[in-house]
Amino acid sequence: MDMAATLPFYDAAADEVEIFEHAWKNRLPLLIKGPTGCGKTRFVAHMAAKLGLPLFTVACHDDLTAADLVGRHLIGEGKTLWCDGPLTRAVREGGICYLDEVVEARKDTTVVLHPLADDRRILPIDRTGEVLEAPDSFMLVVSYNPGYQNLMKGMKPSTRQRFVSLRFDFPGSAREIAILRGETGCDEDLAKRLVAIAQALRTLKDQDLEEAASTRLLVYAATLVKAGMDPVTACRAAMVESLTDDVETAGALMEIVNATF
Ligand code: ADP
Repeated sequence: MDMAATLPFYDAAADEVEIFEHAWKNRLPLLIKGPTGCGKTRFVAHMAAKLGLPLFTVACHDDLTAADLVGRHLIGEGKTLWCDGPLTRAVREGGICYLDEVVEARKDTTVVLHPLADDRRILPIDRTGEVLEAPDSFMLVVSYNPGYQNLMKGMKPSTRQRFVSLRFDFPGSAREIAILRGETGCDEDLAKRLVAIAQALRTLKDQDLEEAASTRLLVYAATLVKAGMDPVTACRAAMVESLTDDVETAGALMEIVNATF
């Protein structure tokens, strides 16, 4: 199999690939923290492909329960059938279970995550009476965005101290230009201008914007321009209107865009 053709493109920031590999080899779970759209999910997809492991990704939300992760009995054709959840499948198949925005999930999920995340590496399934032992190749990876954190939704020390942790942030200019080019095939000049806009917008974070302009939004803008859209229109649609609902703030952000193109 041609690995280059199947490996999701990921431009590394530092030694995160090596840290991931060491954590996996040593059966340690990994926590990735960083703002939205900075490459966490892409990194995990890249590593799963690199290590040849099946990947089970769960986007956590505030209604997500332990049963959503572990599985449940489903009723069909007059009988009940057990159906594994994504966490259970990852354990059975010895793959990676990636829980994106894990702090969003219900508290009862910690009951299943803790025994898997420490050296016991077990998944007790109460409903079926099974206790699964995770194979060596199983890995638990979780992410969260420290910026979303509020008083109620921090990660408890008893949970975070079970993980090896990596901090992600938005890439510096040269790397973000390389990511845009690698991801969309856009030319250097467009990538440079878009990254300059993002950097200017990021200095406004905290003042006017809830969230900084992410690499994801830059990729969207570059994709639209490459498809033939006018750059100013593309930046308005893919960046400015995705960052704010406030008309005045949008106007201020558009001034930055207009000054660049
Ligand atoms: P997160 O999981 O942190 O919210 P993603 O991993 O989904 O963010 O990244 C959003 C998009 O940004 C990706 O789909 C990809 O296009 C691009 N991206 C961000 N960082 C990288 C990187 N280091 N290498 C390649 N693409 C990246």
